[in-house]
Amino acid sequence: MMVDDIKRLKEVVDTCNNVLILAHKSPDGDAVGSAAAWFHFLKNHGKNPTIVFPDRPSSNLLSFLDNTDYLIFDLDALKVAALSAQCDTLFCLDFNSPSRVGAEAQVIIDEFKGQSAMIDHHPNPTNFCDVQISRPEICSTAQLLYHCIEEMGMLTLLNTKVAEGIYLGIMTDTGSFRYPSVDANTHFILGKLIQDGLEHFKIHEAIFDVNTIDKLQLRGFAITEKLVLVSNCPIGYISLTLSELERFNYQKGDIEGLVNVVLSIEGISVAAIFMESRDGVKISFRSKGKYHVNEFSAKYFGGGGHKYAAGGFSNDSLDVTIDRFKTFLVEIIE
Ligand code: 5GP
Ligand code: MN
Repeated sequence: MMVDDIKRLKEVVDTCNNVLILAHKSPDGDAVGSAAAWFHFLKNHGKNPTIVFPDRPSSNLLSFLDNTDYLIFDLDALKVAALSAQCDTLFCLDFNSPSRVGAEAQVIIDEFKGQSAMIDHHPNPTNFCDVQISRPEICSTAQLLYHCIEEMGMLTLLNTKVAEGIYLGIMTDTGSFRYPSVDANTHFILGKLIQDGLEHFKIHEAIFDVNTIDKLQLRGFAITEKLVLVSNCPIGYISLTLSELERFNYQKGDIEGLVNVVLSIEGISVAAIFMESRDGVKISFRSKGKYHVNEFSAKYFGGGGHKYAAGGFSNDSLDVTIDRFKTFLVEIIE
């Protein structure tokens, strides 16, 4: 890490008082884990933080927020605005550009009067905070927080609550420690957290062993009835209409990771999921090897992300969106 960046981050951490911690829209395990870890770290440093998410995290992530103070912008915009006006410091975690919190919640960043710091691992960040710690080579924002805390010389503030958030973020952003982004440091950090008393198995259970029958049956239906393997092409995708989702009583998070199941099929190197919603179509892309999906998603679906994991959105109908995907997909495999 650049010594100057860490020095500047330490100044923000030491001088802050009333703090707003903001993560990205559709918060995933790294967003929630990082926000919770940073919340407890700042509390342990005698500060007064509140977490704000643009919208509600899935229910299996909510337990990680049990001992934190947090607000959901979608449900409580006025409270967030009032809080934001009183805060002297804004931390932006796990996103690289103000638009990632969504058009409405972006006012929090645009109108913030105090000091701000971003800590993130997504490539190509825009410049929107006073201090920016951007490390795309690190597997998760949660791991990056560990490095920051260590390099600021503040590991004594890393108690079990901080450790739980860090473990959650690393685990979920690495597919349980298996992606190429995992390195020896990742395992060293995990070992250290466990050595200091973290009960890692409880985190796996809280995330993976809480399936509803509806969720499992939706996934079974999607794989059995809706999987398309593009002929002569290492590409597979699943699309789900609103009425199919409703049939299985869809809850946020129910198709999380399903795109990786498509990617796991022998001979498939690029996978996509198209999910219809009332506002449009949410798209998830995953890839491996020489195939990259973030630029493709940015070009055609207003999205972005990492080389091997990206997302996007389409305001067209599900059919039109899939047609567009099929028209352009040769560009991914070229
Ligand atoms: P997911 O498919 O899990 O929703 O997202 C995969 C990755 O792509 C995540 O790292 C996320 O940050 C990124 N991502 C998802 N949706 C968007 C989007 O609309 N815009 C950008 N820039 N990145 C996205
Ligand atoms: Mn992340």
